[in-house]
Amino acid sequence: MSSYIPVIGLEIHSELLTKSKVFCTCSAEFGGDKNSRCCPVCSGMPGTLPIINQTAVEYAVKAGYALGCSINKFSVFDRKNYFYPDLPKAYQISQLNLPLCINGLVPIEYEEDGVKKSKNIRINRIHLEEDAGKLIHDDLNGVSLADYNRCGIPLIEIVTEPDIGSAEEARCFVEKIALLLQYVGVSDCKMEQGSIRCDVNISLMKPTDTEFGTRAEIKNLNSLKSIYRTIEFEIKRQSRLLDRGERVVQETRRYDDNKGETRTMRSKEDAHDYKYFPDPDILQVNFTDEDLARIKGSLPEMPYQRLERYISAGIQEKDAKIIVNSKRLSDLFDDTLKVYNNPKSVANFVIGELMRRINLGEIDLEKLNFTAEEFAKVIEMADTEKVSKGDAKEIFREMSEKGGSPEEIAKARGMLIVTDTGKVLEAIDEVIAANEKAVNQYVSGDVKVFGFLMGQCSKALRGSATPKVIKEELEKKLKSLVG
Ligand code: ADP
Ligand code: MG
Ligand code: ZN
Repeated sequence: MSSYIPVIGLEIHSELLTKSKVFCTCSAEFGGDKNSRCCPVCSGMPGTLPIINQTAVEYAVKAGYALGCSINKFSVFDRKNYFYPDLPKAYQISQLNLPLCINGLVPIEYEEDGVKKSKNIRINRIHLEEDAGKLIHDDLNGVSLADYNRCGIPLIEIVTEPDIGSAEEARCFVEKIALLLQYVGVSDCKMEQGSIRCDVNISLMKPTDTEFGTRAEIKNLNSLKSIYRTIEFEIKRQSRLLDRGERVVQETRRYDDNKGETRTMRSKEDAHDYKYFPDPDILQVNFTDEDLARIKGSLPEMPYQRLERYISAGIQEKDAKIIVNSKRLSDLFDDTLKVYNNPKSVANFVIGELMRRINLGEIDLEKLNFTAEEFAKVIEMADTEKVSKGDAKEIFREMSEKGGSPEEIAKARGMLIVTDTGKVLEAIDEVIAANEKAVNQYVSGDVKVFGFLMGQCSKALRGSATPKVIKEELEKKLKSLVG
């Protein structure tokens, strides 16, 4: 196979987290009984009038700021006409020429052949539109049914320039978009619930070509894995065609997850096939400078800002990146610091123990059985030697599996270290009496045996004194013997 340069552009649809739909007051919540969340407006009855949801518009603008876009102060909604049973009006309200946001830039970092790389992906536009309904194909009775609950759910469509060069870059980019949208709080980006979906546009070119090749568009990918596999498959498929001197056909394809391949769905339609025209029922959007300043000012702390904050608190960059790259993890981290402000120690526990168990699939960040207060407490208890480091992990295991307060677990399981100096001295005396040879070695200057003696004392005192106290007392005692 000759080597071609992949040229990839993505169109990402992401559901906005508004309470109600974008042009009516129906609930926008996921689920619900079939057709229980629709009204004359979103089910397309003639004569009804859509009213735009201001929160949806602001969320789209927030997403624009998060992705480095400019905001169009004047923006228009258009009708995109096509006939399909999941679209009761026979048009989708969308935006063509004057979308809310344009010209963004999203930096990504990824690894290729073991080398760390970074790149900026340009965003062409972000527009606001409505989702369509859902068709349920009942094979048993040979009918198809329509559920309109999703009709009118607000979506943003993020369109990139064709700047993406590989499956790995695409995967990182989609992950980054999901992260940024989660941080600004406009979308939860749950792939498995379809709240973020992606169309992949891909063509190949030779290094000497001056123009892009013909692209295929693969619709409606709903997982990072399927995006990755689609691109890998298309690169092979298109390379083979070009190697044989054949042409890539401009078309829309579908990805089959079971086979890991793409198949022709329909020939690609052009914008004029949709007979777009401005929707006469919907007010055009006019932002004042104050509107935009207010929305921009409402953006929360973003991942790169948190990263800086963590690094300046003394956390290693690679650890800080791991924490920041999950909004939930980063929120837990910050909430923990509010109770126990020891960033390095908390970061160590998060990276060492929490991440280890998340990666093993033992802990799910979406469903934690413990609070940030409890998490802070168990780390603090280990740091202040109220429990041993090993026992802290054990307490954390129980907290994360069954819940419960770390103090109570420690007490119930006899893990609390209560230092009783009388007991420590007693144990030291016993160890000294039983290890005459080692003690003599120490007294005659061979201080290496200290570790051995310390070990014997710790064993005798297991759990009832901190290593620090044992060490201090043992040292004192041995020095007194040296005289
Ligand atoms: P359409 O309206 O037909 O969907 P757009 O011009 O809006 O087309 O582009 C859709 C996506 O396809 C964009 O992400 C764009 O970057 C990408 N794209 C355009 N041309 C090519 C090409 N030749 N190869 C790969 N991707 C492309
Ligand atoms: Mg398209
Ligand atoms: Zn409705």
